[in-house]
Amino acid sequence: MTQPADSGRRPEALPLLRGQKALVTGANSGIGLATAIALGRAGADVVVNYVFGREAAEDVVSKIQSFGVRAFAHEADVSDEGQVVGMFARMLEEFGTIDVLVANAGLQRDAALTDMTVEEWHKVIDVNLTGQFLCAREAAKEFLRRGVVPEVSRSAGKIVCMSSVHQIIPWSGHANYAASKGGVLMLMQTLAQELGPHGIRVNAVAPGAIRTPINRSAWDTPEAEQNLLKLIPYRRVGDPDDIADAVTVLASDLMDYVVGTTIYVDGGMTLFPGFATGG
Ligand code: NAP
Repeated sequence: MTQPADSGRRPEALPLLRGQKALVTGANSGIGLATAIALGRAGADVVVNYVFGREAAEDVVSKIQSFGVRAFAHEADVSDEGQVVGMFARMLEEFGTIDVLVANAGLQRDAALTDMTVEEWHKVIDVNLTGQFLCAREAAKEFLRRGVVPEVSRSAGKIVCMSSVHQIIPWSGHANYAASKGGVLMLMQTLAQELGPHGIRVNAVAPGAIRTPINRSAWDTPEAEQNLLKLIPYRRVGDPDDIADAVTVLASDLMDYVVGTTIYVDGGMTLFPGFATGG
């Protein structure tokens, strides 16, 4: 990991999620790591999911606990139904319930279409899309069982799907990834429609280019970064905290009337910057 576990750019936390219980998948690296810490700082107890990298997950747990809230790390592959069910069972046992799911875990297996193996296709769809389905399903069961607890939140539960600008921007050489994120968009909207009447809010955050290990080659040399900046009208590569802050506010009652929406946190990447001078 290159980014610090906590940039500390916001010294005082707003207790936006005080008393809430959150689960963040893929929380030992990058965006998930920053998000788990931000939710803890906002007052939530947090489950830090990971699949490899236990040590990094335990570091995140310590950081969250330093805010005076509870946290534990849980190893589970989000594409494995039994492991996901087991993770939620442990969360309910230890924390009693769940208020916020951030379905963040994701990966890339890039290849030109004619070189892409069916294993590369399935791996990305299984983790990025099926993983979100499995976690959302287990969270929704508990939200429906418990209903609204007004002292905790106006909503019976919140699901934030980590999508990508590639839910709407085609991406040559990344057919599996773009298809998975396109799927996340329709999964999110359908769940929002289905669960809204039960007081459950489902939304997505779609990052643009964020400095994390998943896309290191896109930013780790000056030349690569300059090329990347051409795609970003705001001319800054994003930090994990940019996404973490958006997720925190979206999961809070400040955004209680936001349902079935994608918040693009992308420095304007979805503004078709190629048309700024062309077209
Ligand atoms: P990252 O630093 O590589 O983190 C990916 C995380 O996903 C890691 O914690 C990893 O855990 C976890 N993970 C991978 N496979 C898993 C599995 N089967 N079960 C559970 N966890 C698993 O990447 P990131 O940039 O933070 O990506 C997080 C999310 O943001 C992804 O959904 C990605 O598509 C999305 N996103 C990122 C960007 C960007 O520019 N960085 C842009 C748009 C969208 P281990 O380390 O334990 O394997």
